[in-house]
Amino acid sequence: MTLPVLTSVASLRVHLAAVRSRGAKLAVVPTMGALHAGHQALVRRARELGSEVAVTIFVNPTQFGAGEDFEKYPRQLEADQLRAEEAGASFLFVPEAREMYPAGDQTRVSVGSLAEGLCGASRPGHFTGVATVVTKFFALFAPATFVFGQKDYQQLKVLERVARDLLLPVDIVSHPIVRQADGLALSSRNVYLTPTERQAALGIPRALAAAQRAYAAGERDRERLIGSALAVLRSENLEVEYVELRSAASLEPLDEAALREQPAGERWVLLIAARSGTTRLIDNSIMGHDLEVGGR
Ligand code: AMP
Repeated sequence: MTLPVLTSVASLRVHLAAVRSRGAKLAVVPTMGALHAGHQALVRRARELGSEVAVTIFVNPTQFGAGEDFEKYPRQLEADQLRAEEAGASFLFVPEAREMYPAGDQTRVSVGSLAEGLCGASRPGHFTGVATVVTKFFALFAPATFVFGQKDYQQLKVLERVARDLLLPVDIVSHPIVRQADGLALSSRNVYLTPTERQAALGIPRALAAAQRAYAAGERDRERLIGSALAVLRSENLEVEYVELRSAASLEPLDEAALREQPAGERWVLLIAARSGTTRLIDNSIMGHDLEVGGR
C-alpha cells in the first residue's frame, strides 16, 4: 500500500482532525524531497517520538535566491513515497506553492542576527524563506514534535528560535548528521556532483576531521583550528565560502577564553560551506573536550 499523499491545506486539516480523534501523537519531518538515508533516519527518529509521522515535501520557492537551483532541484515523488513508507511515515503532505502561499500573500517571518552570518551572508533572504514556510508547518501541525537534521545546523538554530520566540506549541528534536561510508554527508544536492567533484567533496569531512584531531591534540587557538580545516579544503581545490568556529548552543562568535578553559559540557561547532565544481555543500562537526572525536 502506498502512503496517503495530501496536497491541499484543506485536506490536511481534515486528515489531522482524524489523526487527533484517534488520540495519536504527531511527529513531523519537513523536507524538500529527493529523500535519502539521512531523511529516513529523521523519519525513524520521528517514529520513536510520535505514534503517527507526517513527512512534508515542499521545494520552497521563497528560500531560493536568484541564480540558485530552485528549477533543477531534484523532484521524485514516487521514489520518495517508497522511502518515506519504508522508514515508517504515516502520510505525506506535498503542497503546491499556491497552497503554502495564498494569492496575494505578503507575510514573512524574519529572524534577527542568528540568520545573518554564515549561510545567511551568501544567501540573503534564505532563512526568512525557511522560517516563513516552517512557521506555516508549525501552525498547521501543532501540537507536534518536529525533527530536523544537524546537517543544516544554522537552520536548526533559526527554527528553534522561531518556535521559542513565537511561543509555538511545538517540540523540536534534532538528529545527528548521516554520512556515507566514506564520510560525505548525505544531501539531495550530491546528485549534482560528477565523480571527480564527489571525490574532491570528501575534503569537507576530512577538513572537519583534521580540526577535530587538532582539537583532540590540545589545540585551542581559533585561527589554528580553522586553519587546519582550511588547509585540507584548499588541497582539494574546493572553493571555500566559510569555515567558522562558533558556540554550538547559540551560534554566537566564539568566546576564545572559554575555548581555552574548556568548561565541561561547553560545545563548539565548526561549520563549513564550500563548492565542489558548482555545487554548494555544507557540513559541520561539534567539538567539546569531553566528547568523543567525531568526523573521520
Ligand atoms: P532538506 O530536504 O535538505 O531540506 O532536508 C530536510 C531535513 O533533513 C532537514 O532537517 C535536514 O537538516 C535533514 N537532513 C538532510 N540531510 C541530512 C543528513 N545527511 N543527516 C541528517 N539530517 C539531514
